[in-house]
Amino acid sequence: MGDNVRDSRPNPFDVAVAQFEVAADRLNLSEDMRAILRQPKRELIVNFPVRMDDGSIRMYRGYRVQHNINRGPAKGGIRYDAGVTLDEVRALAMWMTWKCAVVDIPFGGAKGGVTVDPKVLSNAELERLTRRYATEISVLIGPTSDIPAPDVNTNAQIMAWIMDTYSMHAGYSVPAVVTGKPLAIGGSEGRNEATATGVVAVLKMAAEDMKMPMRGARAAIQGFGNAGAIAAELLHAEGALVVAVSDRQGGIYDESGLDIPAVVRHKRATGSVVGFEKAQRISSSDVLEVPCDMLIPAATEGQITSENAKRIQARLIAEAANGPTTPEADQIFFERGIRVIPDILANAAGVTVSYFEWVQDLQSFFWTEEEISEKLSHIMQRAYTDVARLASDQNCDMRTAAHMVAIRRVADSTQLRGVYP
Ligand code: NAD
Repeated sequence: MGDNVRDSRPNPFDVAVAQFEVAADRLNLSEDMRAILRQPKRELIVNFPVRMDDGSIRMYRGYRVQHNINRGPAKGGIRYDAGVTLDEVRALAMWMTWKCAVVDIPFGGAKGGVTVDPKVLSNAELERLTRRYATEISVLIGPTSDIPAPDVNTNAQIMAWIMDTYSMHAGYSVPAVVTGKPLAIGGSEGRNEATATGVVAVLKMAAEDMKMPMRGARAAIQGFGNAGAIAAELLHAEGALVVAVSDRQGGIYDESGLDIPAVVRHKRATGSVVGFEKAQRISSSDVLEVPCDMLIPAATEGQITSENAKRIQARLIAEAANGPTTPEADQIFFERGIRVIPDILANAAGVTVSYFEWVQDLQSFFWTEEEISEKLSHIMQRAYTDVARLASDQNCDMRTAAHMVAIRRVADSTQLRGVYP
């Protein structure tokens, strides 16, 4: 099972720093600049009580880390998971800095998390936990300072509670404090499906470069949540054959292509893709290794390592998840000629539409779905082209190229602003 892979996963912050150093070497970045960019700027740890439905009190630990805010307010999602650690949040915050810079939107990088398994909480407990966590991190978050969004196990309803809690303390509505909200309270058209839309858009651009037709291409997807399930639906609609999908409970496989709308209905009804009829049951990590042309990791970090990279059969990988591939696995893919579209580019459409949502909230003026889709497509195309061109010029993998584009932008802004005082 994938969860076993996860248990032995490398420290995500070590991975993020190793990726940074590779790009910094190629950029000949000074040691001073490396020292500034290598570390998160702010790290907040909060321990807070939540009243359970039976009247007892339970303590929880949460984090909010701002890696860098030189190019604008901090931006990044909030994750609820039993495995959340400070180093995981640090890594995710650093990747957010690079991601916002790759697509050239005026945000710095941040991430938050609470160490909790939300599936064992009642809805009322989840709301109380969210409101208390939002209050605890309100020393950092705000519409001009740090703007959270959904990530693993958080959704539009949780964003609505954060927006309401922050607004109750302010005494007026502050929709721009958080993105990924429901439409009725200042959310944006297209935000829910943005991440998957961007993943499929870059996949199509890369497939075209590689002369691989989308129609009939076999795809496998690990993780069947906001990013993975919607990517499966979009690929299915493109005429690709989604042969394998998985979630935390396990995976399913059908070499002739799964009926994705039916799998989505099954997951909605039962809570998992497992148990879907007319498909072979496989493990969550097996999904990574089935015969296919395209692979989308859309679960968590550290799933693809030197141990399983050799067995992966896809020729093209688009990372919907953050940090799914270790540097050792990257090296194996580069040597094997497997193209990896890295997380900071592949899943950047989520934060891009979050940026659109924030701009709309600040202006109190809302755009149509067509406007969102056109602006998003322009940004993703430009970012993909910048990265693909640099990768080809430098004869390096796309992760290194994407980091080079991003780090150069963040370093330039740091240089221009200077070191205070
Ligand atoms: P989600 O909670 O909606 O879904 C996560 C899915 O992954 C679930 O199906 C879960 O069962 C599955 N999963 C978890 N651990 C697994 C494992 N070990 N093996 C197999 N499946 C596993 O979360 P999401 O928002 O879809 O996020 C998924 C990934 O995409 C994360 O890495 C997240 O940081 C990244 N991401 C999400 C967004 C977004 O807008 N939601 C944006 C950028 C990046």
